[in-house]
Amino acid sequence: MLKTLSLGPLCANCYILTDDRGHGVVIDPGASAWKIIPEVKGVKIDYIIITHSHFDHFTAAVPLKKATGALIAMSETDAEDIKDPNKSLLCWFDGMNAEIPEADVRLKDGDVLTAGDLRLEIIATPGHSKGGICVRCGKMLFTGDTLFRRSVGRTDLPGGDPDELINSVRTKLFTIGEDLAVYPGHDVPTSLFEEMRENPFFGGGAG
Ligand SMILES: [Zn+2]
Repeated sequence: MLKTLSLGPLCANCYILTDDRGHGVVIDPGASAWKIIPEVKGVKIDYIIITHSHFDHFTAAVPLKKATGALIAMSETDAEDIKDPNKSLLCWFDGMNAEIPEADVRLKDGDVLTAGDLRLEIIATPGHSKGGICVRCGKMLFTGDTLFRRSVGRTDLPGGDPDELINSVRTKLFTIGEDLAVYPGHDVPTSLFEEMRENPFFGGGAG
């Protein structure tokens, strides 16, 4: 089962994914742990997965870990970049005292995490940030700020690279060859085939 919460000033999507046996994961607990914790009551949260090291995707991770005992998983690159306020963008909020999560699990492209019956496949998609990842679970694809409905993540922030982002989406996501449901880090869900056809960043929808 999938629950979506839109959290924080930038309305980042936090996804709670659970199986039928009471296991689950939380992807991108961006803010407001007090809103997430009641939603995972009675669920064994095995992992908190952070798609990338921008503050709007992780500032509730530490309190959520304390409440659930989950392990925090993020890419090797982000495990370091998250500590740099210029890269986490916490420098935008002088004085905001967010707790910076430590990675319990450092993810690499192709890694698989399991939580109960859930199988979560890690896909490295640099471009929006150096360490950005997408997460595939069955017919669902969680894209963080890599791919949005009819758009892609911005590339003007530290570690961003427009060519790398387009290349990541083209070679790592558009080659999956199945029409997965896409759950982005902001805004509404879409589907992979729909974005391959309609996303203007890949020549779509100009018709
Ligand atoms: Zn971001």
